Amino acid sequence: MYVLDTSALLSRHMPDGPCAITHLVLDEVRDERSHDFVTSHLSAGTLVVCDPGPEAIERVRNEKRRSGDDLSEADISVIALAYEHDGTVCTDDYGVQNVAERMGVSWLSTKTRGIQTVVTWKKRCPGCGRTYDSESDYVCEICGTQLKRILTKRRR
Ligand SMILES: [Zn+2]
Repeated sequence: MYVLDTSALLSRHMPDGPCAITHLVLDEVRDERSHDFVTSHLSAGTLVVCDPGPEAIERVRNEKRRSGDDLSEADISVIALAYEHDGTVCTDDYGVQNVAERMGVSWLSTKTRGIQTVVTWKKRCPGCGRTYDSESDYVCEICGTQLKRILTKRRR
């Protein structure tokens, strides 16, 4: 099963095979052309609306916390649904690709080449160099300097 996010729907490129979106993604489809595209696939049965269970959502939330990616509730639901059904996420969003990759969920990018590295967002103090996880406070607890968001990478 392919699970499409909003960026994949906007590209209007439908993978060959059973496709699904979540209600949160459906809610994000606002422009008329994308809405018509979705509605025609829903009535043709080539696309279904399906939601993940709470356990899969929690798994994605935990991985998102570790990676520090900034994901919406809709993004989380897409990865969780693919995780639950051993499906493939279709997305052009680097954050969604990153968290999916870290969880061993396969993904396809529709327009771009997609991510080449897996990243972890952290925060770093420009004053004393101490690093913090991405959800840390705004200022360094040692020297009080404002923290900056930084990226650590490894190859896929
Ligand atoms: Zn500091």
